[in-house]
Amino acid sequence: MKTAIELIGSKECTGCFTCYNICPVNAIEMKYDEEGFYKPNILFNCIECGKCIKICPVIKNENNNKYIKVYAAWSNDKGILLNSSSGGLFSELALEILNENGIVYGVGWEDGEVKHKRIEKKEELKELQGSKYLPSFVGEAYKNVIEDLKKDKKVLFSGTPCQIAGLNKIIKHENLITIDLICHGMPSYKVYKKYCNEEFEEKVKKVDFRNKNTGWINYSLIYYTNILKNNYHYMDKFFYGFLKDIYLNEPCYNCKFKGTKDGEKREADITLADFWGVPKELYNKDGVSLVVVNNKKGEKVFEKIKERIFFQDVSLEIGIKGNSSFYKSCTRPKERDLFYKEIDNLSFEELSNKYFKVESIFKRRIKRTLRILVKVLKIIKAKLLKEV
Ligand SMILES: Cc1cc2nc3c(=O)[nH]c(=O)nc-3n(C[C@H](O)[C@H](O)[C@H](O)COP(=O)(O)OP(=O)(O)OC[C@H]3O[C@@H](n4cnc5c(N)ncnc54)[C@H](O)[C@@H]3O)c2cc1C
Ligand code: SF4
Ligand code: SF4
Ligand code: SF4
Repeated sequence: MKTAIELIGSKECTGCFTCYNICPVNAIEMKYDEEGFYKPNILFNCIECGKCIKICPVIKNENNNKYIKVYAAWSNDKGILLNSSSGGLFSELALEILNENGIVYGVGWEDGEVKHKRIEKKEELKELQGSKYLPSFVGEAYKNVIEDLKKDKKVLFSGTPCQIAGLNKIIKHENLITIDLICHGMPSYKVYKKYCNEEFEEKVKKVDFRNKNTGWINYSLIYYTNILKNNYHYMDKFFYGFLKDIYLNEPCYNCKFKGTKDGEKREADITLADFWGVPKELYNKDGVSLVVVNNKKGEKVFEKIKERIFFQDVSLEIGIKGNSSFYKSCTRPKERDLFYKEIDNLSFEELSNKYFKVESIFKRRIKRTLRILVKVLKIIKAKLLKEV
């Protein structure tokens, strides 16, 4: 075994780009594999130095984080809140670092694909706002972080837990602040591309996956082609298949980077998420972030933004009650293998009808009404029993 990818195999590789950033002779290129995820491809000039094996977080990873505080929070700036997927806490933390003359790394769009971008100015922050449910091309971002730190810059880096685990193995530094997300899993670029090609006549330049015009919980997707096309998330076929877990990256079904249910071993200084299941008294229709502060460094930076946000501390139990992805991987659907076997032979429409048929609004409404009816009947029954 001479390289990390040969040791762990494609099925365990998250596509975190850590080996790509460490290879001393540029013998690794990162390409989409046949399922639509970035994986390393080893070139002829590999000198078998073993550095990628030492650095790969799937092979070895450890951290001592244990959560300090958990908050429900949102930005007081309505513009930031509405442009962000949850409560806009990423932007508030990013603004703090930019105000201190620092550098922010996060995920943005470029030519119809998503990639990690480096920004220095507040005006650029918009590009990084919002969740992009596609694998990010990290490129040489980790190397660039090291260069920024050498120049005494503060750096904030945001990404999935597997990416943060990789960055942490490359460098740990007091001026480097990391943010990870509660991560459900990463959907396939190949499936996304197939959907776009068959659904839209023009090239899709970008997608707003979490548009709040229809609300935070009831969000819509907007596809930017020559004309804008939008859909409620539960009516969008690509998104529906993602939520049904049919085409996630293979390691996401057994993710090694989640940490524990007790809030230990999270990868980043701060974890951000949607506060699904937020208690009624802390609800905001425009979005609520769940913030888990995982260590002292995270606590220090969170203290600095408190003046610009609404926040309320909650227990970890309440925080993650509606968000099992905090500690648990999703189940691998048994249809996944068949889906990928047929992907090149069937149209997206046929695949969707066969493996994840989207329910009509009418059917959804009937189901919802029935659920409410059952609840009401249960309450009435309980009351009647009490009176007897
Ligand atoms: C693939 C994926 C799965 C997620 N799963 C869950 C989940 O199960 N439960 C939950 O509560 N929250 C999940 N989230 C997180 C949630 O959607 C929000 O991103 C998070 O709450 C931060 O929101 P915000 O309002 O603070 O900032 P936002 O402005 O919405 O966050 C923007 C930042 O998120 C990061 N980001 C966006 N897309 C990507 C990407 N493709 N790869 C790496 N980083 C990215 C970037 O650094 C970006 O700059 C997921 C996000 C992603 C990208
Ligand atoms: S073994 Fe060394 S040279 Fe070969 S791919 Fe890994 S890091 Fe690069
Ligand atoms: S370092 Fe990341 S990209 Fe490289 S082999 Fe390991 S998991 Fe895959
Ligand atoms: S579920 Fe785990 S392996 Fe998959 S993208 Fe998220 S952090 Fe990475």
